[in-house]
Amino acid sequence: MRPLADGTIPPEGSAYWVALTQFETAARVLNLDEGMADYLRHPKRELTVNFPVTMDDGPLRMFTGYRVHHNTVRGPTKGGIRYHPNVDLNEVRALAMWMTWKCAVVNIPYGGAKGGVIVDPNLLSQSEVRRLTRRFATEISIIMSPEGDIPAPDVNTNAQTMAWIMDTYSMHKGYSVPAVVTGKPVQIGGSLGRVDATGRGVMVTTREALKLRGKSYRDVTVAVQGFGNVGSFAASLMAAEGAKVVAVSDASGGIANSKGLDLKALKEHVARNKIVKGFPEADEITNQELLTYKCDVLAPCALENQLTGQNADQVKAWIVAEGANGPTMPEADRILEDKGVMLIPDILCNAGGVTASYFEWVQDLQSFFWTEAEINARLERIMAEAFHAVMAEAEKRKVGRRVAAQVLAIGRVAEAATLRGIYP
Ligand code: GLU
Repeated sequence: MRPLADGTIPPEGSAYWVALTQFETAARVLNLDEGMADYLRHPKRELTVNFPVTMDDGPLRMFTGYRVHHNTVRGPTKGGIRYHPNVDLNEVRALAMWMTWKCAVVNIPYGGAKGGVIVDPNLLSQSEVRRLTRRFATEISIIMSPEGDIPAPDVNTNAQTMAWIMDTYSMHKGYSVPAVVTGKPVQIGGSLGRVDATGRGVMVTTREALKLRGKSYRDVTVAVQGFGNVGSFAASLMAAEGAKVVAVSDASGGIANSKGLDLKALKEHVARNKIVKGFPEADEITNQELLTYKCDVLAPCALENQLTGQNADQVKAWIVAEGANGPTMPEADRILEDKGVMLIPDILCNAGGVTASYFEWVQDLQSFFWTEAEINARLERIMAEAFHAVMAEAEKRKVGRRVAAQVLAIGRVAEAATLRGIYP
């Protein structure tokens, strides 16, 4: 891999290495000018912040966080903030780059960004997480604004986190600025339909994929890795359409029942116990076993680098719907393609979240709010159209679906960059 402008090459296997490897393939297919390709594979700006938080019992503890803006040619940057012990700059760079392509693939007027803090929030109290969030929001406020960069929830962050960020930013300004983040509670300028939007997009794109093979949800079994902002909603929305959800997992491990899991009861179990483990009438499985569990649709909705050269050939599903960002390594991509698995790539499959975020932002800027039916109808239309545009691109160029999605997206960003011209 060609070194970046600072002379470094990201470690092989890191999320940024994966993102750049995918980018190189797409840039070749697009026959992108070498200078333009080099421009698009670099993040525009990166902020690292080290900041103190007062812990409940008195002492200060230092934390490190990041906010990366990958590209701004199509609009302000958009992307979530995650709290996870494995966050690092290369991961945030990759996730920011994927956000640029994701917004372009569904054709919403944003560039990509991502943020993260190195922390396991499950080990902190609610008030410690609140203070951490407010301080991190203050630290990144120098590059965050409704016009410039709009965060949203990601792994281990949620509507409450966004409420604190919105409040912190608003306190500094002296007036309320709801449009500075999306994924807020509806009571303070959030959008109806945002909370389940990523899962809904997974459901819609998978439905369209099933249709291509003359199937519907009633014909299939589904395994979902991750039971958070994406997986829990993807699972219940697919179940509501008639699918049999046979396995789910979270960070604690997984549960399976080949006769199907009762999603309503499972959600109640998780509300009580925080984890899927211990759910009655199911076998315990590991996260690894979930990925190779017998099913028709596998939806990895957790973290990066899950499907690898080691496990991809044991995948039994014939559709892989990537609710997560970057769950499949390039080697696994090749294996799945050879097996004839129908891949719905991350930047398409999980774009429902940022699409509903766009609706939220537009509503906030206009202080004019839409009904849930309007939001879901618009989301359905955008997701289904993007799905078929990617399928058409794959057909036209005779490439796999990941490459097709990236080609469509990167082509749009390159075109916008060319039209704007390189400053000065
Ligand atoms: N974190 C989500 C993602 O990875 C949503 C981003 C957003 O809504 O801005 O797509």
